[in-house]
Amino acid sequence: MSAPEHLALITHRPDGVAVGFLEADVSRPQLSVLDSAPVRGDGIFETFSLANGRPQSLELHLDRFAASARALDLPEPTLAVWRDAIFAIAAHFADVEEAWLKIVLTRGVEAGPAATGSAPEGTAPTGWVYAAPAPDFTRARTEGISVAVLDRGLRSDVAATSPWLLAGAKTLSYAVNRAAQREAVRRGADDVVFVSSDGLLLEGPTSTLIVRQGSQLVTPPASLGILAGTTQADLFEAAHLWGLSTAIEVLRASDLMSADAAWLVSSVRHAAPIREVDGVTITVDAELSQGMNDFLRSRRA
Ligand code: PLP
Repeated sequence: MSAPEHLALITHRPDGVAVGFLEADVSRPQLSVLDSAPVRGDGIFETFSLANGRPQSLELHLDRFAASARALDLPEPTLAVWRDAIFAIAAHFADVEEAWLKIVLTRGVEAGPAATGSAPEGTAPTGWVYAAPAPDFTRARTEGISVAVLDRGLRSDVAATSPWLLAGAKTLSYAVNRAAQREAVRRGADDVVFVSSDGLLLEGPTSTLIVRQGSQLVTPPASLGILAGTTQADLFEAAHLWGLSTAIEVLRASDLMSADAAWLVSSVRHAAPIREVDGVTITVDAELSQGMNDFLRSRRA
């Protein structure tokens, strides 16, 4: 069976342990208006790709999901239940070449006095798994994307100095990321590369930056308060296929212009070569981009 969208709701006990899941009707309302997700963006998520119904890089995503939960003091996700729900939903997409699947865990329904401001106590978390066919990203993958370089306004040591800003956790609070993408569009670009206020290259709003310097692929370290990318991790493991070495290193804004090639990589769009930075053309490595995207699409796990 294949249909455009599928949903499963995770059943949690009040102590935060997940005990099962139920498939649900996507076209029906399923979320309370008092849930911490719509009200405060207080929760976490992961998005990954399904290749003919096979979840890609599932375990890296689940590890990061658990790390994000720890960063937000959410209950540890019961991964066995999440895995079962993910595979049940993914199975609906066996006939779909590329689909995307999102898992969400929120602090749950805020009720009573807690809804007025203080931290809620004893509420069960809310969780769900949603999947739909992926948009067609052929153009971004082949022709490339233009980016605007935007200051994130945070120093590169933000993760160490201000862990409460949750830099590097995959929280539901993506309004800032969306605003940055709209700013890029206003500047005539497709996407964003963030820099820290002290001038270091960071990541895109929904992607990891990789540059090629000669025969080496380089990406900035997660210690700069950026998300540890699963797509980047998979590409670095495969880099030997293209005769490349890899390094995780601090990069300055000027390193983007002088790179031999650069990409924004992410789970669903995969590898989008950067062809223009703030209106200035940079080289697209079409052959390597195709190699990367072929590899990413063919991942079995
Ligand atoms: N950085 C941010 C802020 C993201 O939101 C994402 C993905 O959505 C990434 C990087 C790329 O991560 P992944 O390759 O695991 O999709």
